[in-house]
Formats: sequence, C-alpha cells, structure tokens
Amino acid sequence: MSAKINANITPDQHDVLIVVDVQNDFCPGGALAVPRGDEVVPIVNRLAGAFRNVVLTQDWHPRDHLSFASSHAGKRAFETIAVPYGDQVLWPDHCVQETPGAAFHHALQIRHAALVLRKGLDPAIDSYSAFYENDRETPTGLGGYLRERSVRRVFLAGLALDFCVRYSAEDARREDFTVFVIADACRGIDLDGSVADTRATLARLGIPELGAGELGAAAGA
Ligand SMILES: [Zn+2]
Repeated sequence: MSAKINANITPDQHDVLIVVDVQNDFCPGGALAVPRGDEVVPIVNRLAGAFRNVVLTQDWHPRDHLSFASSHAGKRAFETIAVPYGDQVLWPDHCVQETPGAAFHHALQIRHAALVLRKGLDPAIDSYSAFYENDRETPTGLGGYLRERSVRRVFLAGLALDFCVRYSAEDARREDFTVFVIADACRGIDLDGSVADTRATLARLGIPELGAGELGAAAGA
C-alpha cells in the first residue's frame, strides 16, 4: 500500500457517513452527469458497511428551480449569474422531484441509512451543502440531527466532489464536526479548475482526504 495511507479508522457510534447525491442524474447518462460518477457506487456500498450511522442526501428540485439555466431567458448551462445570495452556476435541469433522474442509482444499497435528507426544494435558492442552503444561512437541520445523535466526526463520500461534497465538508467543519473526505469514493465535475480549488480549500481547512481502504475492515482494506 502507498505511503499516503496513514490512518486506520474504525468508525463508531460517534461517526457518520454522509453519502452525497448518488442519483441517476449525476451518473453517466444522467442530465448532469459527473464523469465516472457511477464508479463510487460499489465503493460507497462497501464503506457504508463500516458505519452504524449513514445519511443519504438527495438533490430534489422543483421544475422551475433557480439553478436551472432553463429558468433564465438567454442563459446557458454552466454560466454563472448573480442572484441575491451571491454567484450561482446555472445547471441543466436535473434531479426534478419524483423523476427517474432524481432517484438514487439503482445499485446503491445501504439499507441501514437512517435519514434521507432532501435539499434544493426552495425554488429560489440552491443547496449544494447538506447543512446549509447556498445563502450559507438557511440550515437544513442536519447539524442539529447529528448533534442530537452524538455524532462528532463526519465522513463524506459521493457526488460531486467539487460542489456538494465540498460545500458539505466546509459547513460540517463550520458546525464544529471533525471532517474527512473519502477521496476515492467521490468524483468531480471539474468546472474551470473546481477540483483543484476544492483540494486546496480542504487542505487549507485541515480536512484530510482519506482512501476508502483506511476505514475499518468492512471497507475492504
Ligand atoms: Zn441541484
């Protein structure tokens, strides 16, 4: 094994695995496909076996959502516009409530996930993070849920590394959890260098990137 492997963590009841947005629209063939996004599915399934606490997040937008380019005349997907809470990247329509694209990938199998947290429901605000909407002020309630469950450490996996995983990691840190990103259980979109930005930000915040093999025997180490 490589020298990078420096931890061997056995998750306990104070740890949670948050599986971010492993949904059809973010996988190859989906409306906003993350390159090789489906590759995280078997890794995440295996990882989840090492955790007692698992939360799934699900991007879940109304049809006229502000983050959709189609909601703005003359705008195209992947442009950035100014909205009341700051800059917003415009996306192809994706993860529309109750559509097949919003469903979890069919091979995602985590029966013991206790909470499915839906986000992005407000038509006027996007929500990359599992903890706060994109105004960085409106909480989803996940922080309170985790504290009430005595969780102290948050492990993140899923899609996309450079958006929803990144914002979730930053906000988990802001909420005073100890945070880890399981790098090989994430894939990125990489819009204008956003993967490199994410890695730099995680490093600056002291959020380690782990390999799935560093998490307990059940993770396949
Ligand atoms: Zn979305």
